[in-house]
Amino acid sequence: QAKKSGGNSLVCFSPAMTEQIQQRYALELALANAVTANQLQLHYQPQLADSGDVIGVEALLRWQHPELGAVSPAQFIPLAEANGQIEKIGDWVLQQACAQLQQWQHDPQFARLTMSVNISARQFYLPEFVSIIQHYLQHFQLAPELLILELTESLVLANLDDAVAKMEQIKQLGVRFSMDDFGTGYSSLSYLSRLPFDEVKIDQYFVRSGSSGNPRDWVIVDAIIGIADTYGMTLVAEGVETEMQRQLLLKSGCRCFQGYLFARPADIAATESWIKSQSR
Ligand code: C2E
Ligand code: MG
Ligand code: MG
Ligand code: MG
Repeated sequence: QAKKSGGNSLVCFSPAMTEQIQQRYALELALANAVTANQLQLHYQPQLADSGDVIGVEALLRWQHPELGAVSPAQFIPLAEANGQIEKIGDWVLQQACAQLQQWQHDPQFARLTMSVNISARQFYLPEFVSIIQHYLQHFQLAPELLILELTESLVLANLDDAVAKMEQIKQLGVRFSMDDFGTGYSSLSYLSRLPFDEVKIDQYFVRSGSSGNPRDWVIVDAIIGIADTYGMTLVAEGVETEMQRQLLLKSGCRCFQGYLFARPADIAATESWIKSQSR
């Protein structure tokens, strides 16, 4: 449209597009302020072994804006990744999660729980990322094996050699890696053998579709569990919502679970009291 009407005309956006751009801009502006305005909070979702024991938690970011209300991470994380705000936000998340992990070291009931933290591509590929991790381990005096960094396969495959080299450096510190949302990306299962992951999280898509009666999807679930087993990786099923799903996963050899069936992500107080109620 703009091209047809001549060289010096402005590009015309439809009202709907204009509104979208304005919304995005407003969200970016608000997000720039979120860390300093104390609007971010970490929630935690328990992960359980087949015995029912809680083995760890995943830290999940929450943003509560005074006017916009609760904004979903699925909405603001991609935005923050695109514009670079994730560097500051991701650092805040790491610091909070590590501080919490330190707190737990003093309480025998929580002292062995792992803390899984989602790491975005932009954050991971920062040149100083290894030293940031090293810094937090030292600063909070953490047992490094309790910290698990979750990366997605697209992050790793975007820059395979660099990613693996960096992961190896961080693994030297004793920190572990988990591949998040496995099965949803572009990679084939065979990639897994080349990547230094300690854990694989099978995406809730498979957990859901596999148990909703499509046996073809369950074949994939079985394959993923088998491969993880072969390579000595822990397998965690995400998004487990029903007892039937848990039973099917268990039958296929999955030993770790996370999902609404057990507990939703919640603030630290609610998470701690839920964990306490489980171990009674
Ligand atoms: P994810 O890392 O795959 O996290 C799992 C998501 O599934 C979470 O959504 C969790 O609340 C949700 N979930 C857990 N159990 C169930 C279930 O049984 N059923 C259903 N339907 N959903 C379940 P959430 O908290 O909205 O986070 C969405 C995504 O945002 C995360 O997916 C992760 O990719 C990203 N994210 C969250 N926090 C952070 C963060 O601190 N840093 C970065 N870089 N990304 C984050
Ligand atoms: Mg995750
Ligand atoms: Mg996931
Ligand atoms: Mg996800």
